[in-house]
Amino acid sequence: MIHPWDKKRPLSACLPGGLSAEKDAKISRNLRPILDTDLCIKCNNCWIFCPEQCIEREDVFVIHYDDCRGCGVCAQECPKDAIHMVREDLL
Ligand code: SF4
Ligand code: SF4
Repeated sequence: MIHPWDKKRPLSACLPGGLSAEKDAKISRNLRPILDTDLCIKCNNCWIFCPEQCIEREDVFVIHYDDCRGCGVCAQECPKDAIHMVREDLL
């Protein structure tokens, strides 16, 4: 087994990842997570708990919206309120 910390994208801590591979995540998503890098303390919670494994650790954390289905887990797990869910139709 590959340890999660060995990869940029983790083996998810809660659900098997890749659910959006079976459908178009952009079509099914009503909310989009917006990450404020100024508030982020790089705790890794969003990266670990995203069920789609669509958050990548670079110099700053990056959300890959093609795979994101807008579940809001990342925002709920963020201890700094650095991720806010925004309605897609308002963007
Ligand atoms: S809303 Fe957050 S936790 Fe859910 S799929 Fe998108 S990036 Fe992952
Ligand atoms: S959970 Fe919040 S503070 Fe932690 S890495 Fe993600 S955005 Fe940054």
